Amino acid sequence: MPQYIVRKGRYGHEIAKFDDSNTSLDTYTIDSRGCSCPARSRSCKHTRILRAWKKSTLEGMVFDDDAQEIGNIFNFNTNTTTSSRRIIS
Ligand SMILES: [Zn+2]
Repeated sequence: MPQYIVRKGRYGHEIAKFDDSNTSLDTYTIDSRGCSCPARSRSCKHTRILRAWKKSTLEGMVFDDDAQEIGNIFNFNTNTTTSSRRIIS
């Protein structure tokens, strides 16, 4: 299951995609023109994740493909279930 982490970059928000290897696979930049991914759309999943991230009040949230919060980078442990940490907003 891919995981996404958002941070604010110099030119816009950056979304890093990770998989279970913990190595960053791709980074997308979202600015006022939209997302840098091949979809080049304002409604791709990265912009959905960014919207979810902006609603979150916590730093370091980790999101899945469906823009659901699945954990936090500061206490994320891939060996344990993340469902108990899920925050429903
Ligand atoms: Zn995108």
